[in-house]
Amino acid sequence: MRLISTLTQEKCPICKEPLTTNKSKAIFSHIIKSCPKDHYEKEFIPSLEGYVEHYQMTIK
Ligand SMILES: [Zn+2]
Repeated sequence: MRLISTLTQEKCPICKEPLTTNKSKAIFSHIIKSCPKDHYEKEFIPSLEGYVEHYQMTIK
């Protein structure tokens, strides 16, 4: 887990802050990385062997 988060250090496409890893679902090997400012979220879903990305574009 630590290796994965180190190797795939990524940044929010909106504000360029490094994404943080939410480990609350680590028991399912389901990794969620999110922008500390909640712009963007990226989930790794092992059963799909892929990522799902969520953009949270709040217009203000
Ligand atoms: Zn952001």
